[in-house]
Amino acid sequence: MKTEAFELETLAIRAGYTQTAELENSEAIFPTSSFRFASAQQAADRFSGAEKGNVYSRFTNPTVRAFENRLAAMEGGESCVATASGMSAILSTFMGHLKAGDHIVSSQSIFGTTKVLFTKYLAKFGVETTFVALTDLQAWEAAVRPNTKAFFCETPSNPLTEIADLSALSKLAKGKSVLLVVDNCFCTPVLQKPLALGADLVIHSATKFLDGQGRGIGGAVVGSSELVEEPIRGFMRTAGPTMSPFNAWMFLKGLETLPVRMEAHCHRALALAEWLEQHPAVEQVFYPGLPSHPQFELMKKQQTAAGGLVSFRVKGGREAAWKVVDATQMLSITANLGDVKTSITHPATTTHSRISPDERERSGITENLLRISVGLESFVDIQADIQRGLDLISQ
Ligand SMILES: *Cc1c(COP(=O)(O)O)cnc(C)c1O
Repeated sequence: MKTEAFELETLAIRAGYTQTAELENSEAIFPTSSFRFASAQQAADRFSGAEKGNVYSRFTNPTVRAFENRLAAMEGGESCVATASGMSAILSTFMGHLKAGDHIVSSQSIFGTTKVLFTKYLAKFGVETTFVALTDLQAWEAAVRPNTKAFFCETPSNPLTEIADLSALSKLAKGKSVLLVVDNCFCTPVLQKPLALGADLVIHSATKFLDGQGRGIGGAVVGSSELVEEPIRGFMRTAGPTMSPFNAWMFLKGLETLPVRMEAHCHRALALAEWLEQHPAVEQVFYPGLPSHPQFELMKKQQTAAGGLVSFRVKGGREAAWKVVDATQMLSITANLGDVKTSITHPATTTHSRISPDERERSGITENLLRISVGLESFVDIQADIQRGLDLISQ
């Protein structure tokens, strides 16, 4: 079946899978570590690469391949490598593409563990990283050195939802012969296609929206075959941060409902942001779907909708923010995101607690900031659960 011409919603359901002789309607799982060959000749050809086909599940598995093909189709990329986690997708990307003496320019507003990977581990192997403000294009340009090999960013940023101009960043990157690597975890291909905007590689934590139900850990990298196959799959098959067939099957099924889930996340998030913005106990709301957001126009140009994450500052300090967290009865108090279950987080004391108080204040992670990953419960119930705490503050 040719699926290239299909719309995104159809690709999410139909792309990437080849039915077996059993004619199953739902995708099969292949939980096998290795594959048999019909003859000594075929074994030799598979090992040499003269014949394409399965060898060993550290690097080829039909279920994993189906997930890779489907995600690649949805992102509009030629190739995809699935990995054991979002972090191993980032690690594999840089292990595959960089060497000692190379330099990365990264947004300072990235997932905390990614920062640790850059500053503690890649640094140990002689790869240095300079951090710049996500939206300050001049700072990106000024940070480029002769040995700069990659730009890295997430957009919208977490938790303040700042938006990078990906077309402008990619122009700058191309001019300097630097790879633009975009972690598309928050938008997914449903809301934003970084490759179409000029990015070279797209990273995913499948753990978040791609699965969408908080069931497992996984990751992926998508891009051209040249940038993905030899460098990144080559590293992956050698080092082994492989996605398991069970997880691949789960993420494959997750992709099927991703377009409708993202639409529903975005609807609820916008309603929540609009309601919070006029609430007397709220000081400021960060959501790119609000006209008050500094990159509202850019968001409309670059994304199909504003996403499922809403952050806001309450009036008061940590005590007031914690009151809102502790007054919830339904919301999950957890740092996880992209789930059907709405979650509430106090970034200053959880996801961003390891950075210094000074740096935290400077980057806007104030003590009165809360982040909501808006799930798919009824909006009425989500709102009521947050209202409880806000009412306590406004009294
Ligand atoms: C969670 C997350 C990661 C890491 O993914 P894991 O699957 O937890 O390893 C990377 N980037 C972003 C933006 C994330 O939210």
